Amino acid sequence: APRKLAAGNWKMNGTLASLAQIDQLLADAVPGCDVLICPPATLIHAVAAKGIATGGQDCHANASGAHTGDIAAAQLKDAGASHVILGHSERRTDHAETDAQIAAKSVAAHEAGLIAVICVGETETQRDSGATLDVISAQLAGSVPDCATAANTVIAYEPVWAIGTGRTPTDAQIAEVHALMRERLSERFADGADFSLLYGGSVKPGNAAEIFAIAHVNGALVGGASLKAADFAPIVAAL
Ligand code: 13P
Repeated sequence: APRKLAAGNWKMNGTLASLAQIDQLLADAVPGCDVLICPPATLIHAVAAKGIATGGQDCHANASGAHTGDIAAAQLKDAGASHVILGHSERRTDHAETDAQIAAKSVAAHEAGLIAVICVGETETQRDSGATLDVISAQLAGSVPDCATAANTVIAYEPVWAIGTGRTPTDAQIAEVHALMRERLSERFADGADFSLLYGGSVKPGNAAEIFAIAHVNGALVGGASLKAADFAPIVAAL
């Protein structure tokens, strides 16, 4: 069965002072699930040292070399990370990352022994034009590499229009996409039924339990509400 995972994506937020939130989270949360924090790269080593699962927010497809400003998957692993978010919509938009690049980064993550948290999601324009299921299918086909297994890959569905907006899809809309993802993964991978499928986009303490009750939702990828332990702990508890 898929593992339950509550993942926090701090994005470009947080300084050493934010480590107090990790202490608070560890004190408050009694997890019945896996809990992952993906802080900015500057904090990975310190967060991992707290004894909580830690992830990067991106990695390079190459193992090392002349790529100023980039981080290799093995460096994330060396700093204490177990996971890396790949293909977040903000990377796809800000850095024009393509499905093929995301797949290559995922292979690099797997080779370094990291679990890839691969993100997919439609824009509002795509949803309004009825293209959502085709977009998600294409992103899964292009971004998830052949070496993916339920043990080394997590998929996060993050509708772009729900990220940081306070807007969430209806339960039926989330259910439809998650069922499609389960179907596509099961067609392609022998263990497709066991991949953890996360929902992300304006998950808050007030809506987490409802979202977690939807079929094929195995957890959440949380942005803003993961920054403060007082918000993230109840989301972890809801899972
Ligand atoms: P918010 O929870 O702030 O909407 O962000 C979601 C997200 O992008 C997590 O990766």
